[in-house]
Amino acid sequence: MLNPHKQAVKQLESVAELLEVAYSEKKRFWQAIEKLKEPDRVYKTELEVGGKKYPAFRSQHDNSRGPYKGGIRFHPGVTEAEVKALSTWMTWKCAVVGIPYGGGKGGVVVDPRKLSSEELQELSRAYARWLQDKIGPWQDIPAPDVNTNGQIMAWMVDEWQQAYLENHGVLTENALATFTGKPLALGGSQGREEATGLGGVYVLEKLAEKQGWTRKQDITIAIQGFGNVGYWFAYHADKLGYKVVAVSDSKGGVYLAEGLDPVKTLECKQQMGKVTQCHCTTKGCSTQAGRVITNEELLELEVDVLVPAALESVIHKDNAKKIKAKFIIEMANGPVTPEADKILLANDTTVIPDILANAGGVTVSYFEWVQNLAGYYWSYDEVLAKLKPLMDQAFDQMWRMKKEHSVSARIATYMSAVKKVVDALMIRGKV
Ligand code: NAD
Repeated sequence: MLNPHKQAVKQLESVAELLEVAYSEKKRFWQAIEKLKEPDRVYKTELEVGGKKYPAFRSQHDNSRGPYKGGIRFHPGVTEAEVKALSTWMTWKCAVVGIPYGGGKGGVVVDPRKLSSEELQELSRAYARWLQDKIGPWQDIPAPDVNTNGQIMAWMVDEWQQAYLENHGVLTENALATFTGKPLALGGSQGREEATGLGGVYVLEKLAEKQGWTRKQDITIAIQGFGNVGYWFAYHADKLGYKVVAVSDSKGGVYLAEGLDPVKTLECKQQMGKVTQCHCTTKGCSTQAGRVITNEELLELEVDVLVPAALESVIHKDNAKKIKAKFIIEMANGPVTPEADKILLANDTTVIPDILANAGGVTVSYFEWVQNLAGYYWSYDEVLAKLKPLMDQAFDQMWRMKKEHSVSARIATYMSAVKKVVDALMIRGKV
């Protein structure tokens, strides 16, 4: 299997071949593609906490459409190739939804469960201090990712501001706008928590429009993962009248033919510690209402829409043939492997790719940055109302590209994104 960065480059090359016809200046077009194969730069260091050293990275892929933007993950499996690939995908994701950012990504090779709370804070502060002059509101704007959260962003804001003051003597940059995904108590945005799941449901609504699904109550949905993204997807889909028939977490799942109630299921999961015992409909929770299923069974259910919202690579060459859903909305990052993608395409399954489906999160991060820069904060309803047109527009652009070039939704999404970045590089005269 290719390392993730080589995979990202291969993906770019195949999309470029399809896009080339639209450009009269072929040489400049291919110069732009070459430039986009590698990040602009990757910073590397080792951060020392409690006598131990932790390798740390920040990759800045491309900023032709705006400052670099992307999360910071704390995970033992972080590698330079992964961070480079993720920063490339962030460039595409921001372009897909048309927000004025390029792509960045950071990571520290660490198992945060092995750190005390003090050590976690020390590591987070060390990371922000190391990047003091390399990130900033007009330069590169990090956010939470795997194993990082609002608290960690708050520590980073504080440390970055302190380091800035020490280095410059006076604070002339906006520390709050340097990080997103912050708690509401420190410049966070209303609606950020549910933005990714809700953005995915806006995509579902667009799909329904294109497919002419008029009776939403007949459209069945299975969701793998019942964390932040899975829950909010279930909540909003249910609220709009779709029938969520299955959800799961790491311990297994539950199937209810008549449709489950996401709110009651969450309350029950919080009490029981898992969803397998939560057979909850609008009438209440009873084990007679449904049946327990494994995560593998959930993926293979006969439903209209399958929503992987937990882990990467869960749909692979060995189970892709068994997927019965005709539509997959990728809410997790990379849940379908490239081999599985080919099998699904051959089976006429439409896969709405992660960089479009889960872009609601980074879009509300953008709103957070705008609010921090303006010092003026929007209500929950305003945030949600601003998210919808951006998701709708991204979906429509993808759909047009899909029809025009007779390609898959994934290829169409990448074509739409890469085109915007290449155009920005050209118009700037960078190539
Ligand atoms: P989370 O930790 O809140 O939830 C993850 C869920 O997956 C939990 O319900 C967990 O029990 C479940 N899970 C773990 N192992 C599993 C397994 N083996 N089988 C089935 N379920 C399993 O995480 P999240 O924030 O909801 O993120 C989910 C996915 O969405 C990740 O791929 C993440 O990168 C992606 N994503 C999240 C956001 C965001 O804003 N939170 C934005 C973009 C992408």
